[in-house]
Amino acid sequence: MPSLRPVAPGFVPPLDDADARLPDTPPKRELRERLAALGDELDELQAKLFASARRGLIVVLQARDAGGKDGVVRHVFGLFNPQGLAIRSFGVPTPVELSHDYLWRVHSAVGARGMITVFNRSHYEDVLVVRVHGLVPEAAWRARYDQINCFEAMLAANGYAIVKFFLHVSRAEQRERLEARLDDPAKNWKFRAGDLEERAKWDDYTKAYQDMLSRCSTEAAPWFVVPADSKPMRDLLIAETIRDTLDGMQLEYPPADPAVLQWKGKVT
Ligand code: ADP
Repeated sequence: MPSLRPVAPGFVPPLDDADARLPDTPPKRELRERLAALGDELDELQAKLFASARRGLIVVLQARDAGGKDGVVRHVFGLFNPQGLAIRSFGVPTPVELSHDYLWRVHSAVGARGMITVFNRSHYEDVLVVRVHGLVPEAAWRARYDQINCFEAMLAANGYAIVKFFLHVSRAEQRERLEARLDDPAKNWKFRAGDLEERAKWDDYTKAYQDMLSRCSTEAAPWFVVPADSKPMRDLLIAETIRDTLDGMQLEYPPADPAVLQWKGKVT
């Protein structure tokens, strides 16, 4: 069974349509069972993270429209204790947010140590939509890759592990999902006319994603490209990578205070 590898710093992933699906994807049922089977392990790791509260985990999700970020939040983070999760979504900045530097709203959304913070979109919008739509001068967005690396390195030096997932869907899969949003009354609310404008800029976005991945995949905060045409495969690969990340943090429950232990067996 394949696992995700971080993007090597400086490497430019091709992001071809063919990369959006693994050659041998096991049946959906098997993948969903394997995901569910991770539940206990994830629960234990999260409990240690929460109890010790010395480290935090930040998970960044970026994708094209209909790329599956919401599905990952539901299926992967649904396996965790909600009390230890901080799920943050980033939309078009408000006037107050725009009156600050672009990282201000992001930094203030980082959960405390002990928490798993999930960014549904993130500061990377400031080198994606902002770049593609020319919302700031080129010199401004170009400077942001280094600024973001510094920001993430600062968080890492202060106890945060960071993993970043780009959910890579093919053009055909996106078309199908957008059409489903038009066909299915339960999904109509998800469709925005703007989605089609963004789709028309597919190649511009590809360049922006490639720069984001090659310039901002670092040892402290690696990017992973997730083949995301298959939803259950996508979820399993992400869940396993998060499990491995938490595992690598060598989390332990905090040692008991001897003053507490003296009460052992004496609780009436
Ligand atoms: P989603 O598409 O993630 O489900 P929304 O429908 O609320 O959520 O879309 C959020 C929108 O906000 C997206 O079009 C995204 O590009 C935009 N956005 C996010 N961050 C920024 C930013 N910094 N500048 C401009 N637009 C942004």
